[in-house]
Amino acid sequence: MQLRLLFNLVLIVVFVVGILGAGWHYHAQLQGDAMDEVRHNSEVLMETALAIRSYTTDQIKPHLDPLNAERFLPQTVPAFAATETLHRLGDRYPGYDYKESVLNPTNPRDRASGWERVLIEQFRADGGLKELTGVHGDGIEQSMYVARPITIHQVQCLVCHSTPDAAPTTMRAVYGDDNGFGWKEGETIGMQLVRVPMLYPLEKAKRAFTTFMWSLAAVFGLMFIGLNVALTRLVIAPMARINVRLEELATKDFLTDLVNRRRFFERLETEMAEARTRQLGLSVVIFDLDFFKRINDTFGHDSGDIVLRHTALRVREVLRSSDCAARFGGEEFILLLRETRIDAAMAIAEAVRAKIAGDPFETVGAVSASFGVAEWNHAEDPRGLINRADKALYQAKHDGRNRVVRATA
Ligand code: GH3
Ligand code: MG
Ligand code: MG
Repeated sequence: MQLRLLFNLVLIVVFVVGILGAGWHYHAQLQGDAMDEVRHNSEVLMETALAIRSYTTDQIKPHLDPLNAERFLPQTVPAFAATETLHRLGDRYPGYDYKESVLNPTNPRDRASGWERVLIEQFRADGGLKELTGVHGDGIEQSMYVARPITIHQVQCLVCHSTPDAAPTTMRAVYGDDNGFGWKEGETIGMQLVRVPMLYPLEKAKRAFTTFMWSLAAVFGLMFIGLNVALTRLVIAPMARINVRLEELATKDFLTDLVNRRRFFERLETEMAEARTRQLGLSVVIFDLDFFKRINDTFGHDSGDIVLRHTALRVREVLRSSDCAARFGGEEFILLLRETRIDAAMAIAEAVRAKIAGDPFETVGAVSASFGVAEWNHAEDPRGLINRADKALYQAKHDGRNRVVRATA
């Protein structure tokens, strides 16, 4: 697989796992914090209610005993005081609520609603249950509640709540004889219920979570770009350069800049396959510089190298771009001519021969070469084709050099 693709796949997997892992963990943390905040607020509200209740009992009631007053004063009833006070808090902070929810209340506004009854029944069923907390409502109405049982522990409570006859007439004048009677000592008649809205802390947690996730994604995005740039600059580009160089080293002849023997055979096999499919002509030309040893011996090895290089340049001038010229070894060259029958190949070989022999080379003077030409018969293998061309070359040498010989079929 391509290096960059693999690298980016690994990065993406790491980022996705990282973002999901961190996101999940942070989300749980924020939700936990939000719930803690709501719980704390509800406990404060519950304690505030209790404080108002005890203040009313200790500081107000002794001065304004409803039993002795000329008219009933609900303000002296702890439950009424706590409910009234915290209702005012609710005006300022919507959703914050306190209720003394009772199954059979004196004041009808304290009557338990459906879901409140369920909680009260739980308290009534389990005398040891001291508190219930939970979530009620949906959407913006969603709130956390804390409920504590109201149980009749003091007999004096029953003065107002046993039978209408025992209750103060001032109270009966306000609330009548139907509600808030029949309570018994030890009975759980209702519960204190505090409600605190969850919307604000949850919204806050949601905003913090969104900001965190976008920040994380931005950091990962920048890292992704940065790592890709680094990968390109530090790894891929240098590797591409090295690969080009390696390819050159593996396929080129360093002296003449023609392709080497190995690459020639690869090209030959490819061209044979195409020629077979399309029923095309395909020819090879082998040529060998004449008396090259003498050139080396007379002018030196470096001059011999210059002749080899210039021979390659002259070959290039004659060949078509679709042909392929290779240095086959020493002072021997081979040409692969695509879509070329023997006559055309002979003409090309003759053109190359004339190009080499026509102009004297610098320092070494006239140089010639002998050529063998063979057309592929679509049956032989690469070696067979080259052997036939080689034999023709040998014949050219034998016949006096500086000539082109057609291979026998
Ligand atoms: P012939 O006409 O029969 O081909 O004679 P020749 O001298 O060309 O052939 P021979 O095989 O006797 O000598 C080939 C010489 O080519 C010998 C070798 O030193 C020289 N040679 C081979 N490769 C190189 C090379 O890369 N550079 C140089 N300068 N000479 C080379
Ligand atoms: Mg030679
Ligand atoms: Mg030779």
